Amino acid sequence: MTAYKSKMVERIHLPAREEREANLEAAGYNVFNLDSDSVFIDLLTDSGTGTMSDQQWAALIRGDESYAGARSFHNLESAVEDVMGFPYVVPAHQGRGAENILYGALVDEGDTVLNNTHFDTTRAHIANQGADPVDCPVPEARDLDAEGDFKGNFSIEEGRKVVEEVGAENVPAVVLTITNNSAAGQPVSVENTREVREFCDEIGATFVLDACRFAENAYFVTQREAEFTDSSVAEVAREQLSYADAAVMSGKKDGLSNIGGFVACNDETLFEQVKQRGILYEGFATYGGMSGRDIEALAVGLREAVEEAYIADRVGQVQYLGQLMAEEGLPVFQPIGGHAVYLDAGEFFPHIPAEEFPGQALVCELYREGGVRCVELGSFAFPDSDRPELVRMAVPRRTYHKEHIEHIVETAKEVWAHREEVTGLEITKEPEMKEIRHFTAELEPRA
Ligand SMILES: *Cc1c(COP(=O)(O)O)cnc(C)c1O
Repeated sequence: MTAYKSKMVERIHLPAREEREANLEAAGYNVFNLDSDSVFIDLLTDSGTGTMSDQQWAALIRGDESYAGARSFHNLESAVEDVMGFPYVVPAHQGRGAENILYGALVDEGDTVLNNTHFDTTRAHIANQGADPVDCPVPEARDLDAEGDFKGNFSIEEGRKVVEEVGAENVPAVVLTITNNSAAGQPVSVENTREVREFCDEIGATFVLDACRFAENAYFVTQREAEFTDSSVAEVAREQLSYADAAVMSGKKDGLSNIGGFVACNDETLFEQVKQRGILYEGFATYGGMSGRDIEALAVGLREAVEEAYIADRVGQVQYLGQLMAEEGLPVFQPIGGHAVYLDAGEFFPHIPAEEFPGQALVCELYREGGVRCVELGSFAFPDSDRPELVRMAVPRRTYHKEHIEHIVETAKEVWAHREEVTGLEITKEPEMKEIRHFTAELEPRA
């Protein structure tokens, strides 16, 4: 049951089939090149694409645009302290800005940083410091069909192996990403968080939580971890975050806003270092690249993110989409994560080899069939890796209704029904940097 009614609407439009066909061709069979006006349901990302509440819109008016000492910043500080428990906050324009100012302070050239799984911008920032980002997921994270309540967990065993190799003195930080975005949005248990805390104490590392989806993670904990079935989402969030020394946050995720981010921490020395870098790269320490309006919206959004009605509705909608898909016999990654449903394009198109990008073929078919825009996370986005051919359907927060969810499922069913006729693609144009080719490369269908 939904906890919302609409107060404002935005017109959307499903272009005719011939138009969709022409749009795809004009976009070089890359949906990043599509105009959003020609997309009916946009599942490209849930980052900054959600709907703000009436309370957030009202808060915008209160935005204090003062350069220094803005009241809005103090409201954000209070929200971070109340919801997340950290006394020190350095604002940033979005999550990656927060990563830049934190990891620049913590990590030196030649270091190694451990993470359950580095999110792509995190990996890039660690590498940008001249350090080595190493993933330590639990083994079941790699297995598409493995059951498991907490497939996002950090493997202490893997972490220990790496530390033995490189030496504890070269591991300044261990990061725990909740939920584990790059591992299909799977949650991390509080028990695992405690183990990572002990591990950090043992090797003398700073414990950083990548808290972008901390509320979704806390919701899963209340559903799945025996110790917390009677706790509120807000209580679990506080408990889980309490084990970390610092957190990086993207306001575009569980901040329920369209832009913004911050670093939060407990240690005054680290705070000072991050703050100075924030002034250098983001903006003065009481706005950090955000307008006062954005800061107000984020302060309200953080509090809303841990409200039971919101988070049950949010995760429930993603679960509903995944369950409908699974009931129709469509190949989806199990268990369903907090923000997205992942389809296995390898199962849709066993006749299309990795060099012809089965995931991208599925993305194109979903648009052609129903105007639904998703994103490929397989051999096209990650060249030279042996990742499964995944297609992600990320659900924006508080945005789509049951009818939209049903349309998505109908669309996927149509594609499944004619899956044998679908052909692969080849790249006709690509940028020099292979790692980011999926954003701009152009393709065409194989004859
Ligand atoms: C989105 C995200 C980031 C980066 O945040 P942006 O606001 O997109 O810059 C970092 N880590 C995780 C886990 C994320 O989901």
